[in-house]
Amino acid sequence: MDAQTCLKKLEYVGVLAFATVDENGAPQIRNISAIHYETDGMYFFTAKGKAFCRELMTDGRVQVLGYTKYKEMIRLSAKAAPAPEAEQKKLIDTIFGEQPYLANVYPGGTRYLAGIVFEIKDAEIEYFNLGVSPIFREKYVIGNGRITFKGYAITDACIGCGKCAECCPQRCITPGDPYQIQQEHCLHCGNCYEACPMRAVEKRG
Ligand code: SF4
Ligand code: SF4
Repeated sequence: MDAQTCLKKLEYVGVLAFATVDENGAPQIRNISAIHYETDGMYFFTAKGKAFCRELMTDGRVQVLGYTKYKEMIRLSAKAAPAPEAEQKKLIDTIFGEQPYLANVYPGGTRYLAGIVFEIKDAEIEYFNLGVSPIFREKYVIGNGRITFKGYAITDACIGCGKCAECCPQRCITPGDPYQIQQEHCLHCGNCYEACPMRAVEKRG
């Protein structure tokens, strides 16, 4: 798996959930299909009058989520920004060409007055596959995106009792000094954290 394949899978999914934060700090989520993909990122159309646009303009943080029929979750964490002014018309036409239903929503020239295209060029991509055994997760970036660590890690306080490995549903903890979590197979369920008598398992991120 890699970033480009994740973008391709999102393209196949088609309709994605876009989450933002509003001016009160509350989560806001909606489905978007007016998306154009290029190898270096993703472009999406919305209307300037929508709260979605206002949230992107004032905060910019966005999470984009898609789920395939193979039980793969793909999540982009990014900052979105308006695409360059000189490219707006071309991008609007590209998106409308790929999504013909949009011409019913914004017929004729109304699309140019109402519409705006945002771009995502720097993102962290999280891939999480629940359809394989053991489960598989990995992170990638596009552009200048940064990989952040989330999950559990075992510290040097470990005494090697093995209790964490016994209760791990994915059997992804291997003996050692200290014991090790195979991060690519970890569910982030927290069983190991609860079971450890030494508080040697740390939750991070
Ligand atoms: S339960 Fe805690 S002390 Fe025991 S092996 Fe796991 S991490 Fe180490
Ligand atoms: S968080 Fe859950 S899946 Fe991950 S290592 Fe701990 S017990 Fe296993």
